[in-house]
Amino acid sequence: MLIKSNPDEIQSFLSDASHMLEGHAERVVFPERAQEVAEILQTATRDKTPVTVSGAGTGTVGGRIPFAGIVLATDRLNQIKSIVHEDQGGRAVAEAGVRLSDFQRFVESSDLFYPPDPTERSCFLGGNVATNASGARTFKYGPTRSYIQRLKIALATGDVIDLRRGELRADAGGRIEIPLPSGRSIEAQLPAYRMPQTRKHASGYYVAPEMDALDLFIGSEGTLGVITEIEVTLLPKPRGLLSGIVFFRSEDNLLAFVQDARSLSLAHRQSVGARAGRLGVFIEKALEVATRERVHQREPDDESSGLIDARALEYFDNGSLNFLRQKYETIPAEAVSAIFFEQETTPATEDPLMTEWLSLLEQHDALIDNSWFATSEQDQTKLREFRHALPVLMNEWFARHRQRKVSTDMSVPDEAFAGMLDFYQSTLQTSDLKYTIFGHIGDNHVHVNILPRDDNEGARAREIYLQFLKRAASVGGTLSAEHGIGKLKRDYLRLFYSEENLRQMAALKRAFDPAGILGRGNIFSEEYL
Ligand SMILES: Cc1cc2nc3c(=O)[nH]c(=O)nc-3n(C[C@H](O)[C@H](O)[C@H](O)COP(=O)(O)OP(=O)(O)OC[C@H]3O[C@@H](n4cnc5c(N)ncnc54)[C@H](O)[C@@H]3O)c2cc1C
Repeated sequence: MLIKSNPDEIQSFLSDASHMLEGHAERVVFPERAQEVAEILQTATRDKTPVTVSGAGTGTVGGRIPFAGIVLATDRLNQIKSIVHEDQGGRAVAEAGVRLSDFQRFVESSDLFYPPDPTERSCFLGGNVATNASGARTFKYGPTRSYIQRLKIALATGDVIDLRRGELRADAGGRIEIPLPSGRSIEAQLPAYRMPQTRKHASGYYVAPEMDALDLFIGSEGTLGVITEIEVTLLPKPRGLLSGIVFFRSEDNLLAFVQDARSLSLAHRQSVGARAGRLGVFIEKALEVATRERVHQREPDDESSGLIDARALEYFDNGSLNFLRQKYETIPAEAVSAIFFEQETTPATEDPLMTEWLSLLEQHDALIDNSWFATSEQDQTKLREFRHALPVLMNEWFARHRQRKVSTDMSVPDEAFAGMLDFYQSTLQTSDLKYTIFGHIGDNHVHVNILPRDDNEGARAREIYLQFLKRAASVGGTLSAEHGIGKLKRDYLRLFYSEENLRQMAALKRAFDPAGILGRGNIFSEEYL
């Protein structure tokens, strides 16, 4: 097994997209099989050596940054093992270190489709599962959790378990018992909190009544075990795609447009869901996923409907457009905000759908003639690059100014979103700080980045950030909708969970990791362990 300890060689494993500084580790180990991972963990438990699991390091909250011990890199667990076609899509098995972009390409070359798409596609599948990643397409298709059918996980005890969805559940009292290959079992009590009523959630351990054991590990940020292999559900590949970056000269018009596009899409899906339910074909494979997390199987009728059904609705405020103007000179001068949308099409629906979208945009006075639309793969890639360029520019800004990232990832329930966005905007407009607001508006989830130019502004930015957090907590929101808590946000978790709930989470972790070696400092600080 490859082991690196030369400081120059391990430097790149000591950071991630959070730009947290001063990560350090004794060495980085690169196991190639689940059994090797288990042996590393068993030894580390015996010696009480902290182990930080590393994916591709695109995480934004310092989750893979070590502050002691060793880094367990998943780079060499990088095989796509199988793919099969089934009636309504298929399944694939891949190791945790497979890069999402490679996986997407592979799946699509088999005419299938893996919906999770967390903007930065250089991430690994294991990192996606560990953070329950989501992205633009989550508006239609739900987060990573919705597609996970089976996980192979190496535990701190040195055991390797294989959990398939539907095979093992918590009991009505919230007890969960996981049998180990050694004949022993792990018994744990689930925390007593309930999930927030938001469309996305990646803050702390997932809990639901009589939940599937598999769901505990999804979003656990490297604190409960090392995911080594993943089986996912695949959908049929969409036949075509219509997308657009549409500019508006009035923010009010943009918000009214979003409201309409969103309501039409959700209403359409409800009616398709009802029809599919009657036909008995709805959500057979990815079904076990609890409550509000969505999976959509395409129904044949659905495709010929020609009705608005966005799979992505993404927002850019004026500050975001000003940033992007550095790279994209053709953004219209009068534009104050923009929306990126995508909808799947067939040859029969492409034209009617274009007409529908144009008509809706016209109703809301969008700058149609200066907006950009795409139906070919090549043009769509350009639009996606535009969307991706913004978080990249933000990350570069924080690195250049050597400032800690001040970036929100909260989502709130449907009824609270308009007030939350207004609160963000009015608070920031009266400060003299530079900021951007962009992201997944379809899911009531926008990222506010406050961009301090020096430490003084940094301190003020964090004060404002705290106001935003308190507001989100007061309306039943979540601290992190998709990036996770990591080390950067753990101290804010107590605004969203009681002290008792945090202790229950820590107790759950101890059941799986008695020596507390895994993902130290992620989700909660070490004092809880
Ligand atoms: C420009 C940009 C845009 C982004 N946009 C989005 C977005 O739209 N949506 C979104 O969800 N995220 C987004 N992200 C964040 C990031 O891409 C995701 O969090 C991604 O899922 C992390 O994967 P990774 O392989 O890079 O994990 P890492 O950063 O290496 O690790 C993330 C966490 O997972 C743990 N981990 C990694 N692999 C494993 C494993 N095999 N077993 C157990 N634990 C493991 C680590 O310990 C760490 O806690 C964005 C990031 C960037 C830089």
